[in-house]
Parts: sequence; C-alpha cells; structure tokens
Amino acid sequence: MLLAEELPLSQAESRLLDAAREFSRREVAPNAARWERERAYPRATLRAAAALGLTRIQIPAAAGGLDLRYRAKLRIMEEIARDDFAFAFALVNTHNAAARLARDGNDGQRARYLDGLLRGELIGAVSLTEPAAGSDFAAIRTRAERVEGGWRLNGEKAWLTNGTAVDVVVVYAQTDASAGAKGIAAFVVDARRAGFERGPAYGLAGAHALGAAGFRLADYFAADADLFYAPGTAFKTALASITGARIYVAAMCCGMVEEALTLALARACTRSTFGEPLIRRQALRWMLADVATDLEAARLLGYRAARLLETGEDAVLAAAHAKKFATRMAEQHLPQCMQLFGAEGLMEAHPLGRHLAAARVAHYADGTTEIQNERIAAYLERGLPG
Ligand SMILES: Cc1cc2nc3c(=O)[nH]c(=O)nc-3n(C[C@H](O)[C@H](O)[C@H](O)COP(=O)(O)OP(=O)(O)OC[C@H]3O[C@@H](n4cnc5c(N)ncnc54)[C@H](O)[C@@H]3O)c2cc1C
Repeated sequence: MLLAEELPLSQAESRLLDAAREFSRREVAPNAARWERERAYPRATLRAAAALGLTRIQIPAAAGGLDLRYRAKLRIMEEIARDDFAFAFALVNTHNAAARLARDGNDGQRARYLDGLLRGELIGAVSLTEPAAGSDFAAIRTRAERVEGGWRLNGEKAWLTNGTAVDVVVVYAQTDASAGAKGIAAFVVDARRAGFERGPAYGLAGAHALGAAGFRLADYFAADADLFYAPGTAFKTALASITGARIYVAAMCCGMVEEALTLALARACTRSTFGEPLIRRQALRWMLADVATDLEAARLLGYRAARLLETGEDAVLAAAHAKKFATRMAEQHLPQCMQLFGAEGLMEAHPLGRHLAAARVAHYADGTTEIQNERIAAYLERGLPG
C-alpha cells in the first residue's frame, strides 16, 4: 500500500528515510501521548532529530546540508506523522526556516542562525498569520516603518508553529498599507531580542507538540541587514513556499491514515465477537477496503503534486487537490478505524484520537480547505471558453 515506486528515492534518500523511521518508532511514538497530556514542547527530541540530519534534508551541501530532493522531505514527514503529526510539523517548520535562510538569506543572516538551526540548537518558524488576517494574508497589519539604519516593527502575530520555543522567525510585515500585497516585506526577527514579546502556548483540541503560540512586536528594531524579502517580492515568495507545504501536509495526513489502517487491520484480525473475528464481517472489511482505496488515491494526488513541484512546473492546482482530498480523507477515515477498536480506540495509548485532532489542524495549516477550493475554482474558471 505504500506506493513507494510512485516517488522513488535515491540511495541516500532511502537511507535517511530508514533512519527517520527507526528514530520515530524509538523516540517519537513512545512519547507522543505524554507530550499531548502534558502539553509539552519536545525540544530535546527535535534536537535529536536534527542530529540525525532531519533539519538538513533540502539544504545545499555548501551550506552544510544533505542536498536531497523535496520528495525526501515529504516521505520523511509522512513517516514521522504516522507516530505524531505535531512533532513532524514542528520539525519541518524549523527545517523550512533553515532552508529559506540558506537559499535567500544574506551572509550575516546565515552566519548568525543557519548552523544553530541545522544542529537543532535554534528553533525556526515563519510568521504570516495575525489575529485579524489568516486566509487573507494581504490584509496583515503588522507595520514596518523606515527608521535610521533599519525598520521599526509593531504588531501582533498569531498561530505560529514552534511559537512557544522559537529563536528566529521570518516575519512578514506591511511597509506601505496603500500598496497592499506589494507593500509586504519580510524580516529575520530574533525572538531573544528586545521588542519580541512571546505569548503563552495556545490550549487546543490537540497537537500541542507543535508549540502553537502568538507573539507581539513592540518597537522591535530590525536593522537593514535583517531585511529578508524586500517589498514587492515577499508576497510572491510566501505563496510559492506554501504550495510545497500543502503537499507535505497532504502526505502527513496519509501517514496518519496508514498507521490507523495498519492498527485497525491487526485489531480486526485478532478481536472476535459472536464467535468470529471482526475481519470476517463484511461491513467492517469493506470499511477497511474503502480506507485503503481512498488512502491510495490521496497518496497518488500528493505524489503527483510533488513531482510537478520538483520539476518546476505549476504545482498550485495539484497541491490544492492533494491537500483538500487528503485532509478530508483523514477526517473521514480516522474515526472509522477508531470505531473498529470499540471503546478501546479512545485510549491515549493508541494514536487514533491524537491523529484525529491533527487531521482537524491540517484543515487550517498552510491554507484552509475552503481556500484550496478557491484555488481549484479559479483554475476551473480560467479554463472556461471566452
Ligand atoms: C496548528 C496551526 C499551526 C499554524 N502555524 C502557522 C505558522 O507557523 N505560521 C503562520 O503564519 N500561520 C500558521 N497557521 C495559521 C493558518 O495558516 C491559518 O489558520 C489559516 O491561514 C486560516 O486563517 P484563519 O485561521 O485566520 O481563518 P480565517 O481566514 O479567518 O477563515 C475563517 C473561515 O472562513 C473560511 N474562508 C476564509 N476566506 C474564505 C473565502 N474567500 N471563501 C470561502 N471561505 C473562506 C476559511 O476557510 C475558514 O474556514 C497555523 C494554524 C494552525 C491551526
């Protein structure tokens, strides 16, 4: 069911995937329920993941990375999400902050932060969302005002993955409200400096290990050298990177459903009622068959989008299809796998309840399901005659 041949890996990529799998079963799976119960942020385990190379996947070798393809990141996050979506999401967000710094940062920014991010000593994040602007990213209100030698940043940001522990954040801010999206710039913001006020961890329905929190910038001074994307370029780069994020979120939903299906199948073969194992009941075996079919379909949509992304083709539509389908598929099928367990499926020792809450998170993170529909509808409209 893994469809590995649809997105084949090189030897180096396979080796890292194997190591990530082994790491996840050993370090993530046994701890994820506790992280959730204690609402703990798994900083030490993230550092251990970094030591394995999991913050270096797509970083160029010249910058200290492994120079592997997007598909390696996707397959690794899919695999870790089998054990804990939230951990994988925290990890991939630090990885992506490092990849952006390596690709787009200036020498000073790279010198200050890159090595720390790669070693897992620093936690990274990217902040677009605000309390009053999520889907409508162009409406952000955090202001960047020109001052002597740099910029003064003021405003409130919300829903930052890794927000409870973050050290370095790529922050999007408006430099000229009258210019709309073209006025938006991005800055490298150091969370340890004056003017960065971290908010408390959000209390959520689940996925606490990803450390969601907001923060405020109160007269934060960003020097000219801290500018990351100039006004006029920032908005476009944000949208471009979100396409990649949508595809791995889709794959992570597949990872969770793969795990749920594996567990449900094992349970159906070993649990008997009225003298027969559950797997012999047509209603249940067909239910599992439907999960398997939709999982294959979701995975193929995600893998197709990944191939388009890697070859530099337009992957926006494919990513929207993949994320919409996979999140809905997870939300539909995780409860079905859980149901097969009877009451025991509710126990925190099984990942099913955690996965279900994470499937909800996947409906919002990196663009909501409705926004995916807007993207798809825009393509449909463009294809209309006249
Ligand atoms: C756990 C978690 C982690 C996150 N991490 C990050 C992060 O690291 N960095 C970051 O910047 N953001 C992050 N986000 C924020 C995420 O990107 C936003 O939640 C998302 O963009 C939606 O914005 P919103 O929640 O403000 O909803 P809103 O934009 O207020 O939308 C509310 C509802 O209206 C719907 N809607 C909005 N516009 C339309 C429309 N035109 N047509 C139809 N329906 C519409 C939406 O789909 C949604 O259902 C995270 C979110 C979560 C839940």
